[in-house]
Amino acid sequence: MYADLETSALEALTARLERDFGAMKARGLSLNMARGKPAAEQLDLSMPMLSSVVDSASCAAESGLDCRNYGVLDGLPEAKRLMAVFLDDIPERVVVGGTSSLTLMYDALVRLCLFGTDGCAPWSSLDQVKWLCPVPGYDRHFAIAEALGFQMIPVALTDEGPDMDAVESLVRDDESVKGIWCVPQYANPSGTTYSDDTVRRLATMECAASDFRIIWDNAYGVHHLYGEPGRQSRVLDIGKACDQAKNPRRYLKFASTSKVTFPGAGLAALAAAPENLDEIKRHMGAATIGYDKLNQLRHVRFLEDARGVAEHMARHARILRPKFELVARKLEESLSDVGGCSWSTPQGGYFVSFDAPEGCASRIVELAAEAGVTMTGAGATWPYGRDPRDSNIRIAPTLPPLHELDEALDVFVCCVKLAYARKLLESRR
Ligand code: PMP
Repeated sequence: MYADLETSALEALTARLERDFGAMKARGLSLNMARGKPAAEQLDLSMPMLSSVVDSASCAAESGLDCRNYGVLDGLPEAKRLMAVFLDDIPERVVVGGTSSLTLMYDALVRLCLFGTDGCAPWSSLDQVKWLCPVPGYDRHFAIAEALGFQMIPVALTDEGPDMDAVESLVRDDESVKGIWCVPQYANPSGTTYSDDTVRRLATMECAASDFRIIWDNAYGVHHLYGEPGRQSRVLDIGKACDQAKNPRRYLKFASTSKVTFPGAGLAALAAAPENLDEIKRHMGAATIGYDKLNQLRHVRFLEDARGVAEHMARHARILRPKFELVARKLEESLSDVGGCSWSTPQGGYFVSFDAPEGCASRIVELAAEAGVTMTGAGATWPYGRDPRDSNIRIAPTLPPLHELDEALDVFVCCVKLAYARKLLESRR
């Protein structure tokens, strides 16, 4: 372990790492492990959806409706049926939107700010709205909360989901705590999947705010690396849990096919309790006549149903597995005797969460950039971009081809070692 080395040995090691790093820089690489995008090979899997699934002779929905024209605010019945698979819900509770679930989440929160719900004051009329943010978490969730002026409160993410003791005590007495971000399956970036107990506690906990909302972002609900989990090990349905707890309006579920078909050109959808759906559709009806039904048709005909989705996701998994396994192998081989580092080994989703020795993350990301490897910014996984330990880094291994990922990881581990060695030396001076 680096921390156990004599200072002279640490100096020699640092000098060697500086030379390795210099050699890497000289290679003039340009690699990217920053954003969770599918690789081109994955996008190719969905090409039949563009070329043959909907043509000029087949633009009719199952009901006979001509999808080339206006109509149907909340989605074709067959599109609701499909998106219910992603939302783990029944089609009757689904609204199919446009191409981005983030937009649906943003709009849902904007509506609560502007109009309020269920007789409660609009959040924009309150002095303060607080929002619980499990960390490490998704930077774009935090960006939405920040844009709406919510005060973000970090809550630790454990192996079972958000630290529920902390959550329960934060929501119990403070009426200004209005909600929480949740990515229940293969969370971004840790890959954490919520336990049944966590889901039940979220549904049943006593909240001072009657308009408390769980934003249940099921972005990775079907993104298994090692096959579909059996019924027993699936995430408990927050909708059913909230119904049983007599808090039916507490949750809003979201999902999209961004990492199933085409990011930015997929289908996004939400599911909610009937009372929430009525409200959502009323406001949505003021904003649009209806979303893109041709895209809905394309997706329905291409993915078909739960079986079709599972088969398609298995094809994605075949491409992704070697990348995640490479990350796990490289980190294990290169960093297990360095000390101070830990990382997740997710069973699905799009990311690996890496914890560097405290105070090293920013430096690692800077060094990697110098050597031509773009990482997600240090701090991005924390509200306001501020990681108090300067430790967490999100690794996104999906986009680069395997040989590029291999090179990028070599650079990354060299940067981790160098940043840590420099930091230890500095602390001894
Ligand atoms: N939620 C999470 C947790 C994500 O990781 C992502 C994509 N990185 C999104 C939502 C984005 O979804 P969409 O493309 O549907 O807006």
